[in-house]
Amino acid sequence: MKVNVLTLFPDMFTPLQVSMLGRGLEDGKWDLNLVNFRDFTTDVHHHVDDSPYGGGAGMVLQIMPIKKALDSLPSKGKVIITAPQGKTFNEKMAQDWAKEEELTFICGHYEGFDQRVYDLADETVSIGDYVLTGGELPTMSMIDATVRLLPGILGNSASSVEESFSHGLLEYPQYTRPADFEGQKVPDVLTSGNHQKIAEWRHKEALRATYLHRPDMLENRQLTKEERNWLKEFEQN
Ligand code: SAM
Repeated sequence: MKVNVLTLFPDMFTPLQVSMLGRGLEDGKWDLNLVNFRDFTTDVHHHVDDSPYGGGAGMVLQIMPIKKALDSLPSKGKVIITAPQGKTFNEKMAQDWAKEEELTFICGHYEGFDQRVYDLADETVSIGDYVLTGGELPTMSMIDATVRLLPGILGNSASSVEESFSHGLLEYPQYTRPADFEGQKVPDVLTSGNHQKIAEWRHKEALRATYLHRPDMLENRQLTKEERNWLKEFEQN
């Protein structure tokens, strides 16, 4: 997958170049192309923003350098603008984007974009109901969530399949050595070697975690008979 990012701060993107994503970059599993749209200004001061028509605080990003930067790309794939008013990003979107060959993100700054910039994008996406200084951190979060789903990025390809949100449930509790830490013991089933019982326990505990922490995720779930019985059990305790 090729990922283009239009940003005024390309230096911020080092977190994507370490750990598993960094190794993926080195191995050519994905490609990151950082484009500073300030390079596409034509005035002597390289302005990318101007005061808003109608007055008001702050500066608004102009369309011209962003449009020129986009046009400079040999190909763009799906174009995504970061903005608080966008659709909230989630795991399903990461799964869909991971099937694309190319993605292009546009990072805002200052007071945000001239409204006409939104017409250059296929999607406007937010990472939550709060306002950040710029689109760089949202873009890095979305790239991380997407690229880690690509083949060969995670050490164990099963890891992303069993994680929170991938089956509409949060992840079940995980344990590692020691089996007994100051009297806090790992559930017996996990050391039993019985894979069927372990899978059943994990399914039930994933449902319990979701019921306790994110009951909204269960609202539209088609529950199995077994899940309905487990939920009744949780409700009674
Ligand atoms: N004036 C804008 C508003 O009230 O909606 C906020 C602009 S914000 C300070 C500057 C840039 O940060 C935005 O253009 C966007 O690219 C990015 N940004 C801020 N919060 C975001 C969020 N929750 N999700 C995605 N992008 C965000």
